[in-house]
Amino acid sequence: MFLRELKEPAGRIRGAGARTVELLAKAGIHTVADLLCHFPRDWEDRGTTVRLAQFAQYPQVNTTVTILGHSWIGFGRTRTLKVLVEDESAGAELLCWNRNFLKNQLIPGRRCHLWGHFQYQYGKIQSSSFEISPEGEEQGILPVYPLSGELNQTMLRRLVSRALESYLPLIDEELPREIIEKEGLLPRPPALRGIHFPSSMAELDRAKRTLIYGELFYLEIMVGRRAMERRTIRRSPVRFAAERSPDAVPEQDPAGATAPGNVPAGLKKITVSPLQRRLVERLPFKLTPGQAEAITEINRDMTGPIPMARLLQGDVGSGKTLVSFLAALAAVEGGGQAAILAPTELLARQHAENAARLLEPLGLRLSFLTGNIKASGRKELLKGLADGRIDMVLGTHALFSDDVVYSNLRLVVVDEQHRFGVIQRSLIMAKGNHPDLLMMSATPIPRTLALTVFGDLDVSVIRDLPPGRKAVKTHLARQSNEGKVYDFVRNELDRGRQAYFVYPLIAAAEEGRAAEMKDAQTMAARLAEEVFPQYPVALIHSRIDEEEKQDIMERFRRAEIRVLAATSVVEVGVDVPNATCMVVEHAERFGLSALHQLRGRVGRGSEQSYCFLVYSDDLTQDGKTRLKVMLEHTDGFVIAEEDLKLRGPGQITGIEQSGYLSLGLADPVRDAAELEKTRREAFSILEKDPGLLFPEHLLIAEVLKKAPPFAVTYGPGNGLQNTWKNTQFQVW
Ligand code: ADP
Ligand code: MG
Repeated sequence: MFLRELKEPAGRIRGAGARTVELLAKAGIHTVADLLCHFPRDWEDRGTTVRLAQFAQYPQVNTTVTILGHSWIGFGRTRTLKVLVEDESAGAELLCWNRNFLKNQLIPGRRCHLWGHFQYQYGKIQSSSFEISPEGEEQGILPVYPLSGELNQTMLRRLVSRALESYLPLIDEELPREIIEKEGLLPRPPALRGIHFPSSMAELDRAKRTLIYGELFYLEIMVGRRAMERRTIRRSPVRFAAERSPDAVPEQDPAGATAPGNVPAGLKKITVSPLQRRLVERLPFKLTPGQAEAITEINRDMTGPIPMARLLQGDVGSGKTLVSFLAALAAVEGGGQAAILAPTELLARQHAENAARLLEPLGLRLSFLTGNIKASGRKELLKGLADGRIDMVLGTHALFSDDVVYSNLRLVVVDEQHRFGVIQRSLIMAKGNHPDLLMMSATPIPRTLALTVFGDLDVSVIRDLPPGRKAVKTHLARQSNEGKVYDFVRNELDRGRQAYFVYPLIAAAEEGRAAEMKDAQTMAARLAEEVFPQYPVALIHSRIDEEEKQDIMERFRRAEIRVLAATSVVEVGVDVPNATCMVVEHAERFGLSALHQLRGRVGRGSEQSYCFLVYSDDLTQDGKTRLKVMLEHTDGFVIAEEDLKLRGPGQITGIEQSGYLSLGLADPVRDAAELEKTRREAFSILEKDPGLLFPEHLLIAEVLKKAPPFAVTYGPGNGLQNTWKNTQFQVW
């Protein structure tokens, strides 16, 4: 039996009474398999004593203490227990957040075993992440489980240990023997024992490696199968008479110009459709090499037999929109329709305006659809989409409402794709018959993650910015020096430029935040009345209604408004080349990707632009590091990597909401090397034996059939579903 087939209720385990079963259920543990897959978050090595005084030299303290007494932090229902303890080396404080019940167990005078992470704080050795149990309990290396509610370590340790005793002999291997041998892994039963109750640190290590390998291997097998399935889908390709674009990009490498199918960047001419050629000819600038390469790859996909699934990555301002318009032209030329999906109405409108300017002169029939379009106009528009009179539609999530029907949707472009979930993407994909999919993102995803998250996606990267852009100059300023920043901005305004001021909150007072916190609303008034009285200032944030927002943005674009006080609504996509100043106040409160996006709002024209990150004095170490990263780096990919290091993988923009990293033990970022290895292994198996029919692969097929760690729901654009934790993987 495979581990995940152990569906017996946890109550069958010896010693699990009704009360325990109830507590387990609250923690999401219902079956024996759930319990055995409730992996420790840490391990306590009781063999090695680390006294309190040594807390700084070791990752954990591991000692025997005497309870000295109790005190409380705070009052009433929200108070938190503080326990004073000492061992022979020093005294310490234990902060019992959400564990006030420990008061009854930690009676003064008692001797207890203490294990935990300690810090020096306010002159005391302190911990809020510790485990404590009566002296004389088990020795050796003990698991430390993630707890919730009133579950405690002793209880879980006992249950898991009993479950292992009774069920381990029933558990079958899940990895082919060949792999286990080649990789020096453990068979499944000892790996499970080793992860819960290792007899040595070396054994723990091997158990971990084994389980992580298994998780990643099956993830990649599923991703690989999904990829193969996509490649069997056939649809009629877009056809157009290929033309050579005249001088589409600056000449750099004429030698490679004719290499079919693999056109390197920097070519003078690229192969385009007639409409694409006309658009390129009309542009007041040349395509950048990165844009040219991207459109070449897109054209190749769209004229090929398999539906396109491509991620276009390019830093803010790299000109992704134009590439998507070129792709839309190919779709329309092939007799189909194109839909461009944007996360906000502001952005959708900006795209629609650009499209009107660039594409309508070529004869395309465009429309704009958002949730705010009035009933009558909407009806007409839906008719146009359904009967094919409309070639291209731009809009927000309204594009995949139930009543929107397309006559022949050939291309779906998802801008700022990380803002959409898998489900939303599949909703719009389902409106066409295997349409091509182009996802765009300025939030670069490190390669290793892209492999897992997107599995089978092709990736184009625009690495260059349009020429003539000057790098934005970034300055840090203390809040007390804000006056200098304002003076600088005034000078820019005097030169005819425009500025953004961005705040973390709309209205601090309403949001119950301290009065000293600057917010967009108060500051808009102050900027208008005191700081820049001679210039028009406007306020924009998410609670302002759409029509007014549009109006404000339009007037900002026309430079009738010179200063925009905003929240991070201006973060995404907004493109006003005359704006040269971005002032972010309380910058320490923004995440790196937001700061990078915000800075990307300036530096879009030929003038020198500036970004001021104004920070207040109460900034944390993390806040400091973020500001430093912004000062030192401009490359979005580098910033994304730094972000990853700072925040950990679970919190990367667009990934946290899909919860996709809940693999179990594996962490695709930390275990990147292992991920690549399992991917190679999985893909090579599938290449040789796509049906998993060879005798040495039957086991894999059986695991997939009887106890798949992930479920795949087929259909265009669907992701993988992690059946175990019920989270979705974004495959494409
Ligand atoms: P992003 O990739 O961030 O979505 P946009 O598509 O908004 O970038 O483009 C930013 C700006 O660059 C726009 O004003 C666009 O007109 C301009 N642009 C795009 N391509 C080029 C190019 N090849 N040369 C010069 N400017 C360009
Ligand atoms: Mg954009």
